[in-house]
Amino acid sequence: MNILKSLLGAAAAVSLFAASAVAQTYPERNITMVVPFSAGGPTDTVARLVAEAMSKDLGQQILIENVGGAGGTLGAGRVANAEPDGYTLLLHHIGMATSATLYRKLAYDTLNAFEYVGLVTDVPMTIVARKDMEAADLKGLIDYAKANKDTVTVANAGIGAASHLCGMLFMSAIETPLVTVPYKGTGPAMTDLLGGQVDIMCDQTTNTTKQIQGGTIKAYAVTSAERLDVLKDVPTAVESGLAGFQVGIWHGIYAPKGTPAEATERLAKALQVALKDPNVAARFAELGTAPSSDADATPAALKAKLESEITRWKPVIEAAGQYAD
Ligand code: ASP
Repeated sequence: MNILKSLLGAAAAVSLFAASAVAQTYPERNITMVVPFSAGGPTDTVARLVAEAMSKDLGQQILIENVGGAGGTLGAGRVANAEPDGYTLLLHHIGMATSATLYRKLAYDTLNAFEYVGLVTDVPMTIVARKDMEAADLKGLIDYAKANKDTVTVANAGIGAASHLCGMLFMSAIETPLVTVPYKGTGPAMTDLLGGQVDIMCDQTTNTTKQIQGGTIKAYAVTSAERLDVLKDVPTAVESGLAGFQVGIWHGIYAPKGTPAEATERLAKALQVALKDPNVAARFAELGTAPSSDADATPAALKAKLESEITRWKPVIEAAGQYAD
């Protein structure tokens, strides 16, 4: 008994020592941040801006690794199985919550495979189309889509991506299924939209704002409650007649389950510093989004958000009945 007690005591002392050692020295080398979509897309843009600013505070580089495919679930799976040592992170968005219901078989258990760092930003979406789309407004686009439903193509980044979710909501709002074209991210999808190979996409302002302002694609609606300062001429979907069509793409940073709390807390502190970096704030504003508050850039806030969003989207997805295996 005594031996057991002293062994347990020794184990506790070792883990306390290990924890405080982590707190004092972490991070000692570069950190990898997995982005579960292609380079050059909206999630990648957010990740690179934040990673650069966090690196300054941490004194070590956060390097981005793009692991696109299957609507973000491949990249998330990679991180779920990574060493929980604080040196592999995941930056993912709302798809972390929706894929938990959309995929019948996921390689990880969403609520039990990760530790949390914090919320990063909540990005509005835009309904956009190729530049030469003839419709003048959202109503015209809907009429066009309904009249040509067998040939009108809608790009997305795979089942579980934000663009998939938004496209699904659009098709259900107009009660018309259209032809969907999946990519590994809306970065490459944008290339095809610019080239006119696909017709429509619903994508985040972090990918579309510059193109809309430059007139290289046509914007029909934003999915925020109010119009955006950077896209003043683009009406909200609700004001254009799509009642209830509001969606924000929240992003969070995760670590594999078992990552020491000292590491996730240090990362949350760096995230809070990064989100106040003037360059990050300015770039986010240009792209039509805003940094999360200190209260939201915490492990507890991200955990609560993920749990509530899984609950929120489950019935919506079940009603739509579109699953992936
Ligand atoms: N955010 C994804 C990307 O970066 C696309 C999506 O979620 O639709 O490509």
